[in-house]
Amino acid sequence: MSPHPILPLPPAPADDWALFLDVDGCLLEFADTPDAVVVPEGLPAILERLRERLGGALALVSGRGLKSLDTIFAPLRLTASGLHGLERRGHDGEVRAPEPPPGFDGLLDEARAVAAAYPGAVIEDKGVNIGLHWRRAPAAADALRGFAEAALERLPGYRLQPGDHVLELRPGGSDKGTAISAFLQEAPFAGRRPVFAGDDLTDEHGFVVVNAQEGMSILVGDRADTVATHALADPRAVYAWLASGA
Ligand SMILES: [Mg+2]
Repeated sequence: MSPHPILPLPPAPADDWALFLDVDGCLLEFADTPDAVVVPEGLPAILERLRERLGGALALVSGRGLKSLDTIFAPLRLTASGLHGLERRGHDGEVRAPEPPPGFDGLLDEARAVAAAYPGAVIEDKGVNIGLHWRRAPAAADALRGFAEAALERLPGYRLQPGDHVLELRPGGSDKGTAISAFLQEAPFAGRRPVFAGDDLTDEHGFVVVNAQEGMSILVGDRADTVATHALADPRAVYAWLASGA
């Protein structure tokens, strides 16, 4: 991908930043399925050095669950928010996460039955969320959307969250912005300049929060509808940018 036509590149990471990083499409290239992503060699070491430099004020802010993040970056266990703000593990290591509602397992089975008709469609069990993926099965998009809309009626308080070739059923009330706000009220993030990099529409909630606190929002990619103040072309550019401050 080429650089964003309008937004400037971000400066190299500085000592006084609180750095928040989306994972898929930002730190990592997308893969056909969520489990198939590859962590570039050297990235864990860069993240570790940056975290040290920022006094611990570095967190992943992802749509993945914490379990998945820990698996991908093992043996690194980073401060992180998972499931678009639903789960959060602070710098102290304490995890806050909700429980799935009753009858949720049955719904997961029904989703799998719908996806089974479309080879390549993937149903992702994310604890309290269900991710419906059609990156490898574009023909499944309508069926998965139809299923999700019907399922909403059986899940009070839930909403649909669209992403890149994915639709997610999730409880309302939190997003990447609420997660970043919560981190910014705690040590070692509080009092630092918030910076958030991400590629997806769901990252815009986080961009709004960091912009409101005189921070910096970095869009990865060249999407036009964004409130981001800066941009990087792709995960390779993100890697080089992080390495320049590590
Ligand atoms: Mg992303």
